[in-house]
Amino acid sequence: MNYSPCRALRAGKLHPGSKACHPMTMGPKPASPSVRRPNGHLHDTLGRPLRSLRISVTDRCNLRCRYCMPQEEYVWLPREDLLTFEEAAQLASVFTALGVEKVRLTGGEPLLRRDLHRLVALLAANTAIRDLAMTTNGVLLPAHAAELRAAGLQRVTVSLDTLQPERFRKLARRDEMPGVLDGFRALAGAGFTGTKIDSVIIRGFNEDEIPALLEFGRAHNAEVRFLEYMDVGGATEWSAAQVFSRADILALIARRYGAVEPLSAEDVAAPAERFRLRDGTVFGVIASTTTPFCRACDRSRLTADGMWFLCLYATAGINLRELLRRGALPDELKERIALAWKQRTDRGAEERKASRDRGAFLPVEALRRDPHLEMHTRGG
Ligand code: SAM
Ligand code: SF4
Ligand code: SF4
Repeated sequence: MNYSPCRALRAGKLHPGSKACHPMTMGPKPASPSVRRPNGHLHDTLGRPLRSLRISVTDRCNLRCRYCMPQEEYVWLPREDLLTFEEAAQLASVFTALGVEKVRLTGGEPLLRRDLHRLVALLAANTAIRDLAMTTNGVLLPAHAAELRAAGLQRVTVSLDTLQPERFRKLARRDEMPGVLDGFRALAGAGFTGTKIDSVIIRGFNEDEIPALLEFGRAHNAEVRFLEYMDVGGATEWSAAQVFSRADILALIARRYGAVEPLSAEDVAAPAERFRLRDGTVFGVIASTTTPFCRACDRSRLTADGMWFLCLYATAGINLRELLRRGALPDELKERIALAWKQRTDRGAEERKASRDRGAFLPVEALRRDPHLEMHTRGG
């Protein structure tokens, strides 16, 4: 996911942990006119541009990470509802006509979708997309990295939370760690650069691996981003006590490596806040739980069956598949999307942070009734 904290920190004007960076002290800043109308982007009620789209290509997964898919059984999206690659690319071009320039493929596990490279090729042919990336658990990269690169995929983020096989098995409930490690070799072999590693850090489970993950990233030329555990749909075992916070992460790293220098943000809407160690290693923190930054959020999500969600926490979406299959022309789709974005008020993570007695966001029964509420359906 998503969020970037304090602009001043990102501009390198404050130190991590500074009080002025706390969202409660930042207050809701009205968007300045220059924020509202740069580059002809479409803006929502908080002045946030529609710039980034995550396309989930399947709700299926070959892992069962405890923070995402802890149940034994799931209700899956009907196969006939899944967008064809042509439909997904068609919708993507409606979004790019409205200003979207970054597209990320996700899932479920995107590499389970057969012939995914065909969708990549269709999206790569859309010249308005200047950043085409994918988030994957990496297990199937050895089989697919080369064809995805050849089709035009630019960057890959691999989710990897532990380097210990036994822990991996416990967390993901599948014995697939060797495939993930081979996946990094496959990425390098296929010529991918700019690879990132996303690691969810859970208190009492894997915070002791933060240094090892940083070093693994350095050895594989990949920037590691540490994610706080989020109470999103699917995370039914979430509790506040398990959140290893941004402050905890930075303190642990500073104790081990010395001064941590905040880097200024190249993109204020980018999810991670970035830091540099004395030896030059750069890493990120995505503090969605303790330091959400919904105020800069430029992203929305399209599920594999064409439901469009304006926020990771949104409980209702817009069925674009239905419109498309009913024969809506691009202009009608464009109008529908533009209208919804202009009315967007979502600040899901900020609202969750303000809620009292915070526990899991949704009960299992609600997730069973509507699988669109699941993190593995709408993509991270
Ligand atoms: N299966 C792919 C993967 O794991 O990379 C893509 C989909 S997964 C839903 C996308 C990202 O969401 C992963 O990096 C995963 O770690 C993250 N994620 C899932 N549940 C989360 C949670 N409760 N808190 C924080 N991150 C979570
Ligand atoms: Fe894990 Fe990603 Fe699968 Fe969720 S979708 S269970 S995070 S691999
Ligand atoms: Fe995440 Fe929603 Fe906040 Fe955007 S608005 S950062 S999707 S919680």
